[in-house]
Amino acid sequence: MKTDTESRPYRYTGLVDRYRSRLPLAADAKAISLCEGNTPLIRLKHIPRTVGFSGEIYVKYEGLNPTGSFKDRGMTVAVTQAVHAGSHAVICASTGNTSASAAAYAARAGIQAFVLIPDGKVALGKLAQAIAYGATVVQIAGNFDDAMELVKELGKTEPVTIVNSINPYRLQGQKTAAFEIIEALGRPPDYHCLPVGNAGNITAHWIGYSEASGSGTDACVFCNNECTFTQHATSWHPPKMVGYQAAGSAPFMRGKKVTNPETVATAIRIGDPQSWKPAWTVQRESEGWFDECTDERILATQRLLASREGVFCEPASAASLAGALRDIQRGRIQQGSVVVCTLTGNGLKDPDVILKDGAPELIKVPAERAVVEKLLAAKLDA
Ligand SMILES: *Cc1c(COP(=O)(O)O)cnc(C)c1O
Repeated sequence: MKTDTESRPYRYTGLVDRYRSRLPLAADAKAISLCEGNTPLIRLKHIPRTVGFSGEIYVKYEGLNPTGSFKDRGMTVAVTQAVHAGSHAVICASTGNTSASAAAYAARAGIQAFVLIPDGKVALGKLAQAIAYGATVVQIAGNFDDAMELVKELGKTEPVTIVNSINPYRLQGQKTAAFEIIEALGRPPDYHCLPVGNAGNITAHWIGYSEASGSGTDACVFCNNECTFTQHATSWHPPKMVGYQAAGSAPFMRGKKVTNPETVATAIRIGDPQSWKPAWTVQRESEGWFDECTDERILATQRLLASREGVFCEPASAASLAGALRDIQRGRIQQGSVVVCTLTGNGLKDPDVILKDGAPELIKVPAERAVVEKLLAAKLDA
């Protein structure tokens, strides 16, 4: 049996290995990876027709990352760098997904993780993850914004590396989603829609698209002008970046901080976005916009996507598609265009939201063939 690595087929080993030349990591920094990234870009088949859209809608299913959210893209780079720099502990404030991701990558690196979460309103699956991965979980009597302020203070004096998106390595890792989308489509989309909380991810995507579009350079960043794409990166037009917030938690719509943010989409329940300024730059440079969606619309879209397309995302993630569908109907997103919506996290993280109100009653019957048969017949006839 052959055992040498050379004879094996290609094995994907994570985004630090895949994109190292485009990341600001030292050549000898050892990748801390769980094979994150490389997520599917799924074309929606049924939903575009229901809103009369002649273009293409794709969802980038980031819920298929190792801990179930896009945070893993940023975390692999942030923890790789932290360990390279000699850090023995990471810390973050989190509405849930950052803590799950930080905890997992710290476990992988053999270092400690401290996570500060708001009191209540953290989806059960995310809390279970942080505990399972062995982090020290600290629930503070306050919301995400309070936790974030505390983490920033602690970071000044304690021997811990902050791995929130204020850590620039996080955004560097997250920019790779834009590279993957371009590789999958052979070009950037016309519109890229994301849910916005701290606005780190929309900023990271813009960094990725800008680098890939080669602004200011003549060479294609993918290939040095040797690529097999029909067009080189230098002639690509980057997408309009569109950020959707939950109506009860929409500082970008109000033009200022929101003191008591509220929404069922707990991952974007943030009133004081850490990437406030860069996100406005993204909006301006990309000629995109911000908008808001009600919780009702977000939840309805989450269910629509699961039941019509077979893709289950968490509530915050559904804000991207909810907003896009509305902006298609309003004509703000042009007919015939290519739209990508990022599904930031996996629906399995927050099953409560599906099982709570509005869930159909479970059908309970005796274990008898005749009874079940009758039931099937009624459904099949309907
Ligand atoms: C973190 C997160 C967001 C928000 O991303 P920002 O970079 O804070 O704007 C959205 N959805 C999910 C599922 C998240 O975990």
